[in-house]
Amino acid sequence: MKKPRPEDKTMALKVNEGIEQPAAVNREAVSHLARKRKSLLDAAAYVEGILKGDRVLLSQAITLVESSLPSHQQIAQEIIQACLPHSSKAVRIGITGVPGAGKSTFIEALGMHLVNNGHKLAVLTIDPSSQISKGSILGDKTRMEQLTTHPSAYIRPSASAGTLGGVARKTREAIVLCEASGFDTVFVETVGVGQSETAVHSMVDFFLLILIGGAGDELQGIKRGIMEMADGIVVNKADGDNIVRAERARAECENAIHLFPPPASGVPTKVLSCSALTGSNIPEVWQMIENFIQIVKSNGFFQHKRNNQLVQTMLDAISESLQHSFFQHPSVSAQLSVMEHLVRNRERSSYIAASQLLEVWFNALRGNNEPEKQG
Ligand code: GDP
Repeated sequence: MKKPRPEDKTMALKVNEGIEQPAAVNREAVSHLARKRKSLLDAAAYVEGILKGDRVLLSQAITLVESSLPSHQQIAQEIIQACLPHSSKAVRIGITGVPGAGKSTFIEALGMHLVNNGHKLAVLTIDPSSQISKGSILGDKTRMEQLTTHPSAYIRPSASAGTLGGVARKTREAIVLCEASGFDTVFVETVGVGQSETAVHSMVDFFLLILIGGAGDELQGIKRGIMEMADGIVVNKADGDNIVRAERARAECENAIHLFPPPASGVPTKVLSCSALTGSNIPEVWQMIENFIQIVKSNGFFQHKRNNQLVQTMLDAISESLQHSFFQHPSVSAQLSVMEHLVRNRERSSYIAASQLLEVWFNALRGNNEPEKQG
């Protein structure tokens, strides 16, 4: 078919001149950002506010921690450095369980028990769903209504997009800021649907698994590894008609736990039943956590674990930076899709392709350094 030309008046088909494409950059958004940036305080002002317990400045600082803008990151790192000497004092508790296990109801019940007993509680969440679905399993419910309005509680929903490593890092930094702001207890909640449990386990002192009582096959959906990670387990929804079934589930769980190797903490893992809805056994759950913390503080495990976590944080930060540097390098990204194609077509083995790409990167790094050496 003959291609129509705009000037060809005899053609039935006509090519319109088209409309002007909008600029790739939204100028309004940029100027809004610039306005916002101008309103940024300096790091010292945030630090002063955080140390005084100012919630607004704490929230703004956590937003800076979560931001990927280099200018925000720079100020966030200054704030974190200044807050570090004031952190480490809180007890950090990880809470996991499948969706529907009753985590938010439980956090509300245990949280209210704590704030009513003079504690200051911060609740942070790691929600891997927000990364996958761009929605959030945790975020779209009305959650923890009483706690949200309590003056001694601070609830911060999940850091959104990013790799799990990135989200974990932001949560660790948010913990530092919350502790500097005077919270003596930090809950880190995660949905038990992926690898986020391991990330949360690596940043807390006590890891609590919430199971649902009475479902009949309680243990099936929970990976053995997660049960082994738990310092304590609660079977929730032990109320009404469900009490007997919940109790049976608790006993089954206790039997299963006995088959695991003894925990490194030196404290046998306890299994309790409770009802987040009625509040029954909630004080006992807190007692279990307090006892654990007391024992591990005296047997040295508390400090040992925190020291290991600091080292792990360093190793994670290195891995993350290396990955970023590798994948963002122009020489690598130029070759990556070629290699992917070759691997997919079985024309090159995955391992050879990987080592060739790494070689490209190493060479590029050497190349970058050479002028310096010669100069
Ligand atoms: P999450 O997805 O793990 O955060 O679970 P939710 O806290 O949103 O609870 C899921 C459902 O279980 C809600 O309808 C709660 O009201 C209910 N639920 C939570 N805890 C209990 C409990 O102790 N007993 C009973 N009967 N229902 C509960």
